[in-house]
Amino acid sequence: GISMACSRYEYVKDYERDDSILPNVWIVIRVDGKGFHKFSKVHDFEKPNDEKALNLMNNAAQTVMEEFRDIILSYGQSDEYSFVFRKETNVFNRRSSKLLSYVTSLFTSSYVMNWPNWMGDKKLQYPPCFDGRVVLYPSDQNLRDYLSWRQADVHINNLYNTAFWNLVLKAGLTNQQAEAELRGTFSADKNELLFSRFGINYNDLPAMFRKGTILLRKKVVVNKDNAKRQLIVPIHEDLIREKFWKTHSELLGKYKPGEYDDDERPNGD
Ligand code: ATP
Ligand code: ATP
Ligand code: MG
Ligand code: MG
Ligand code: MG
Ligand code: MG
Repeated sequence: GISMACSRYEYVKDYERDDSILPNVWIVIRVDGKGFHKFSKVHDFEKPNDEKALNLMNNAAQTVMEEFRDIILSYGQSDEYSFVFRKETNVFNRRSSKLLSYVTSLFTSSYVMNWPNWMGDKKLQYPPCFDGRVVLYPSDQNLRDYLSWRQADVHINNLYNTAFWNLVLKAGLTNQQAEAELRGTFSADKNELLFSRFGINYNDLPAMFRKGTILLRKKVVVNKDNAKRQLIVPIHEDLIREKFWKTHSELLGKYKPGEYDDDERPNGD
């Protein structure tokens, strides 16, 4: 009968591997849009930064944080988002593929579900998808370096893209000409080009474009009777310097100074 058949087949369950993540490490899950260079073209994103598309990403990340209470910080830029789980988390017994697949699919479904709320009449032309990976960081310094790496990345890309698209959209250069113009230039050259040719002070551009978005849980006073509620708040601060980790000292438990001093900045080259 049926139950006999079940037990006969059930041995295949043992082929599943235990993939639980070792204890006491930071778990980071990063998702990244597949082929978003093309996706952003097909959907006519504003260049270099479509603010609504970034807000849609932030919205999807917030959905993930509401579902997974053990995420203490998320960091997003361009078509990617990183989620940092507290070290002690025991969610899904730290099973790697469960965690990765839930986070990636929830992010994706939320992105699709909220598309009309941010993109208005722009119709979604095909189902977007996101890849996902789990990366483990044993020390607080490793975690900070990871996040610094991602924020340095947005700085380098955004400075380049801002210069590139001003050359194309305002100075009328072709993509190839703009590329040639920027080849071999340093950060200072691009800042200078933006200022002298387009009157743009790079540091005056919106912080979300320059720094990406950090989502944190904060206790916020929400009404007159002083009741505090925990909310997920977006901030666009520099997280490379010590200041961020001092200000948000709850993130790493007791604040410990990092290896680098505040003068060390990504040079963008
Ligand atoms: P892959 O599948 O390897 O990730 P990709 O085409 O998605 O390829 P990425 O390196 O992830 O490449 O870069 C994402 C690209 O998506 C950016 O280079 C940019 O062109 C575009 N993009 C993403 N978000 C925005 C946005 N908010 N505004 C404008 N362009 C965006
Ligand atoms: P978990 O998150 O552990 O997977 P679950 O509630 O999804 O929990 P499953 O063992 O995956 O539990 O079972 C899926 C349940 O969803 C079924 O028991 C059934 O109640 C419901 N379900 C799924 N598909 C259908 C369907 N097409 N019609 C009616 N019910 C369905
Ligand atoms: Mg990529
Ligand atoms: Mg991508
Ligand atoms: Mg990307
Ligand atoms: Mg199920």
